[in-house]
Amino acid sequence: MAINQQIKEKVLNDFKKNFEGKPTIVRSPGRVNIIGEHTDYNNGFVLPAAIDKAIYVAVAPRNDERIILYSGEFGESFETALSDLKPTDKGWPNYILGVADQLRKGNYKPGGFNLAIDGDVPIGSGLSSSAALECATGFALNEIFKLNISKKDLAFIGQRAEHSFAGVRVGIMDQFASIFGRKDHVIKLDCQSLEYEYVPLKLEGYKILLLNTNVKHSLGSSEYNTRRAQCEQGVAWVKQHHPGINSLRDVSMEMLHQFVEPKDTLIFRRCKYVVEEKERLLTGCEDLKKGDLKSLGRKMFRTHDGLSKEYEVSCKELDFLVDAVRNNPHVIGARMMGGGFGGCTINIVKEEAIDSLVKEIGESYQKEQGKELTAYIARVEDGTSIIS
Ligand code: ADP
Ligand code: MG
Repeated sequence: MAINQQIKEKVLNDFKKNFEGKPTIVRSPGRVNIIGEHTDYNNGFVLPAAIDKAIYVAVAPRNDERIILYSGEFGESFETALSDLKPTDKGWPNYILGVADQLRKGNYKPGGFNLAIDGDVPIGSGLSSSAALECATGFALNEIFKLNISKKDLAFIGQRAEHSFAGVRVGIMDQFASIFGRKDHVIKLDCQSLEYEYVPLKLEGYKILLLNTNVKHSLGSSEYNTRRAQCEQGVAWVKQHHPGINSLRDVSMEMLHQFVEPKDTLIFRRCKYVVEEKERLLTGCEDLKKGDLKSLGRKMFRTHDGLSKEYEVSCKELDFLVDAVRNNPHVIGARMMGGGFGGCTINIVKEEAIDSLVKEIGESYQKEQGKELTAYIARVEDGTSIIS
């Protein structure tokens, strides 16, 4: 397991500075997604992996019904009562309070608690620091209050917390990947049945390089909810003719041409991207099993183009970074990753070419987009666990 000792120590110190007692410390990672973007809430498949960047929480129960939180990242405390859980304008406490709220709604009985958080998942960059925070919190509260909740249910609790307290109707991928991640494997997750399969990720001389646009996806959540509604509309039109169909997962291109395109070309394009992406993921997974990384990489570029031109969740900075590597022989695949409108691109790059690529693209990004580029290598690591 990849523990960042510095952050572990920091969160422990933050806990000791603010609270008493000996906390339980849980690590829950961020994630990458190799292919299968915006498919999770359409009941399709995704191919995520947990990474070496994670959120750490230190938690201990209290004798009363208070909840007191401290965030090292924001240098702020927040206090409320278990009986008074509601979203706050402050932002970061919502992911924790939302989890506590879901526990109560699920008839679990958490008590009051003290909690300190920190992490090294870049925030708002599409690596899902939010899910990591929810899963770390859920896992830790499950442990200290002996709630006996399954890992799958902890993922659902995190997802519902994000729906209700952060107001973003995320799918299940991020929480699932954070909790179920396995070192050097991707998870082929069926978002409809929640059946999953670990597929070895043999990168052999290549690495996963994340290039952060440093554009925060603050516009993202309203657009995200709009995309969900557009997909639902497309499904509703198909359903009028095929009553058994409940999601884009079961919709074919023929159906889209027949029942959606005549009604609304914008909604058609949104749905087309999702239907094509479903196919790309399934064949991409076969590529991975065969060890044909190059074929998978080509599909990543096509995914990007679909997200940019048809689903329209990219932005000029993401497009710039993908175009900058498109013809680079050391890069076998690249695309924007996550909800969109900012965040990172995921690139599969020959190890020895990484330094010069980052330098070169960093300079041109600065010059042409006027922003700093940040690069991270993401190693694929295990999912959520108690580390002390
Ligand atoms: P993403 O999940 O892509 O990183 P989101 O906007 O969904 O972006 O979630 C980011 C939010 O999660 C932050 O604005 C903050 O409220 C919370 N968060 C993430 N990391 C931390 C952290 N280390 N400490 C406190 N809050 C965090
Ligand atoms: Mg998020």
